[in-house]
Amino acid sequence: MRIDWPDLRTQRAARLHGVTIDIEGWIVTDDLSEARNHFALIGEPSCCIACLPRDPLARIEVFASTPIMPDSNGVRLTGRLVCLDDDEMGWRYQLREARLMPSPVAPGFTRRAALAGGALFGLSSWAPLALAADPDAAAIAAARQAMDGAVTADLHSHAGAVIRMREPNLPFVPLAAPMREGRMAVVCLAVVSDGPVIGPTDNNTRIRPNRTPAPGELYSYAQIAFGRLQQLVREQQLGVITSAAAMRAAHPDRPSVLVTSEGGDFLEGRPERVDEAYEKWNLRQIQLTHYRVNELGDIQTEPTEHNGLTEAGVAVIRRCNARGVIVDVAHGTTSLVRRAAEVTTKPLILSHTSFATSPGRFSRLVSAEHARLVARTGGVIGIWPPTSIFPDVTAYAAGMARMVDAVGIDHVGIGSDMMGLLGPSALPSYSRLPAVAAALMARGFNAADMRKLVGGNYLRVALANLA
Ligand SMILES: [Zn+2]
Ligand SMILES: [Zn+2]
Repeated sequence: MRIDWPDLRTQRAARLHGVTIDIEGWIVTDDLSEARNHFALIGEPSCCIACLPRDPLARIEVFASTPIMPDSNGVRLTGRLVCLDDDEMGWRYQLREARLMPSPVAPGFTRRAALAGGALFGLSSWAPLALAADPDAAAIAAARQAMDGAVTADLHSHAGAVIRMREPNLPFVPLAAPMREGRMAVVCLAVVSDGPVIGPTDNNTRIRPNRTPAPGELYSYAQIAFGRLQQLVREQQLGVITSAAAMRAAHPDRPSVLVTSEGGDFLEGRPERVDEAYEKWNLRQIQLTHYRVNELGDIQTEPTEHNGLTEAGVAVIRRCNARGVIVDVAHGTTSLVRRAAEVTTKPLILSHTSFATSPGRFSRLVSAEHARLVARTGGVIGIWPPTSIFPDVTAYAAGMARMVDAVGIDHVGIGSDMMGLLGPSALPSYSRLPAVAAALMARGFNAADMRKLVGGNYLRVALANLA
């Protein structure tokens, strides 16, 4: 059944839940030269890849049966419409088992012609712009070679759809294969500890807590989440890094994960649960706070309640240091990071953020002062790639360079937050890692420095922390 974009705003869409529909639109991705099986579809060509509509009624998350190539004339897709009202990522509509259909344009009338009136706004001008920013194939091949033998790492990721907790029967998204292809050795794969009690705001620009969890609720939730992570690891035969020796031996031919929790909410303020998760789930990295002011401390995106790190937070850091668990201060306030840096005896990480001269209220970005607190512990800061900040890998590399200017070459890395962002990403797949490396080299980093940025710095911090 054919539907149009305005239908998504009416009751008609809800009645079509589960029905096979077809719809025309444009594929949004950072790389128009690559076919994908997971992407956003929007109703009109956008002026740039950063312009994924914030309005959740103006976009559809598509899972295609086979990879589909973006087409600047638009595409016609068929698939099963799924209406969501509580998706963690803020999507309202999905098209599942999607397939490409022949375009229905009438002879002599094409979408491109229809758009000609606003030619500058059409995809014909958009496509070359996006592609021009990408390093060329020869540069990517050279960078790929320059990465050879390096331990590459992503400080923060939810790849594989590991956190799609509300739809446990949907298959995982391939993770091991793109890691191998893009020469990514280690991914810090994170469950989200406060998942049940947070959600996007109405305009989909922020994530906020929406209720107080019941006692034990987030602990129980985390057990299920870690179990799901284990299932992904088993299904895709990923390695699990549990020791410094394993970290040192990591290699992209044997892709591995480091088990991580985004938010220490499941601890419920009890440091001994670090040991329990260490034993039971191989937890080796914990981000103290996420989108809820929890028992461990304050966050960047809500009014402060604790003046930074709590005493429970201090105790958790000490437990992590003693046991060999990496402490991540992402999402924490500057006060939290300052106190964490005083307490820790091991280098900290701040897994996903980017530099801002003076970050606004409730911003997830950090100032030079904030970043330097982490760097001074010998730590590393992962740079976050939403296209709303960095439209492509070239801009992303520039963002890494900017943080290098603030904290030095030894303290910056990659923090993709893959499959955890509200919008599209400049690094949507690990197959794109060589393109990031090429963009770094195009910015003037030599091979040794590029290798630090794509994993060497994180390796140093991990070896200093892990037992
Ligand atoms: Zn985060
Ligand atoms: Zn995340």
